[in-house]
Amino acid sequence: MKRESHLPLVLKHYVNGGWTTSATTGVSVNPSDLDEPIGEYARADARMVDAAVDSASAAWREWSRAGAARRARALDAIGSELHARRAELGCLLAREQGKTLPEAIDEVVHAGQVFRAFAEEAVHHSSEPLGVVAVITPWSFPLAIPAAKIAAALSAGNCVVFKPAELVSGCAWALADIIGRSGLPAGVFNLVLGSGRVVGARLVANEMVRAVSFTGSVTTGTSVLRASAARQIKVDLDTGGHGALIVLNDANVSTAVDAAIEGAYGLNGQRHAASSKLIVEQGIRHAFIEAMLTRLSALRIDHALKTGTNIGPVSNDSQLQRNLDTVAMAIKEGAELIHGGRAIERETRGYFMEPALLLAKPEMQITREDIFGPVAVVLAADDYAHALDLANRTASGLPAPCAGLCTTSLKHARHFRRHSHSHSHSHSHRITVDRPTTVTVGVSR
Ligand code: NAD
Repeated sequence: MKRESHLPLVLKHYVNGGWTTSATTGVSVNPSDLDEPIGEYARADARMVDAAVDSASAAWREWSRAGAARRARALDAIGSELHARRAELGCLLAREQGKTLPEAIDEVVHAGQVFRAFAEEAVHHSSEPLGVVAVITPWSFPLAIPAAKIAAALSAGNCVVFKPAELVSGCAWALADIIGRSGLPAGVFNLVLGSGRVVGARLVANEMVRAVSFTGSVTTGTSVLRASAARQIKVDLDTGGHGALIVLNDANVSTAVDAAIEGAYGLNGQRHAASSKLIVEQGIRHAFIEAMLTRLSALRIDHALKTGTNIGPVSNDSQLQRNLDTVAMAIKEGAELIHGGRAIERETRGYFMEPALLLAKPEMQITREDIFGPVAVVLAADDYAHALDLANRTASGLPAPCAGLCTTSLKHARHFRRHSHSHSHSHSHRITVDRPTTVTVGVSR
């Protein structure tokens, strides 16, 4: 593939309406091509975090009293610019995070829609603003997750200090650039780049921060929850989990395989709602596995910007290593690897991995753990009741974020909608019947 030349970006913090830098920097690289830097980003220290919180705090009085129309105008401007620049921003997102270009453009469009939806929300609903809200986000959805948190906070009249995952500093910078031009008063929105240990921890500890909106791993989420609880501030937490897809004997095999490939391997499985447990009734098991193997062999894993790529690279080296270790550990525990599961080389140096499919048992570690990669297991179910029980079992005891069922039986579909213990979020709970044969219950990402 011809390498396009993109100059590395210079990524700064956005504090009190202006760009500012730090003595320490880091580099974000393209996971499809490790020889291509995306940008050099500033890494804040605790003093920079405090300066951002101070500026947000100083801006809050004016912003909390700003009329709904003013808030709506700013949010709408952000949403419109995201939408208008979807191709260019999608390209940046694909280069920095490793999603395929169509997946990345979809994410930009979604982020734009979220800002516009909250522009409406500002006009139609009034909620009590809290003050300075810390927004802390992971690398998996560099625009969609920050969009939901930032738009919700701004629409209610809060001020924001945004701390993205370091790996996607370029996307965060691009979003801050758009927000900075939307007409918000200086200090209402701030971006601080850098590590979780320094920037994230300091944000949660700063006493002017009145609420934390966090998405990330269970481990980090637990420490954010502890620190927030110690200060008795509001916290909105989205952490790990994984989804399940049940395939019953009466399902259409090709529909089931479409749902399983998209659910388990779409976005490289790097979403907490990925269907990494494929629970298959005995009578269809052989046909389903054969069809899965055929489809998996035809998938093209390559550079995220290459036309025809179905799956881009894993986003970063530690996630790739974790995926490979998970597969190795599962084999040791007795699971049977029937496809992929290894790192592969392509024309460019990148974190490419062949999606893995394993035959496993419910009690195995791989079935219980949040994988967050292109790794799925097939579990055997005796009948619908057994399948539902397997889908509802989670290691943490929390409901699964998403669950699906492939069947042609309306009776089972109806029962599943009522009895699947999948997660429900007040803002994103979704129950859809996409096709007569597939029911999905849960959240969208
Ligand atoms: P992570 O927990 O390592 O980091 C998330 C954010 O927290 C980053 O910005 C990080 O810098 C920051 N952080 C790290 N230490 C911190 C600390 N001590 N205090 C405050 N902030 C700190 O997660 P990640 O590796 O970026 O993302 C992958 C994880 O996110 C997966 O575990 C996945 O399940 C989860 N995730 C959940 C959802 C959801 O909606 N529930 C969506 C996407 C990803």
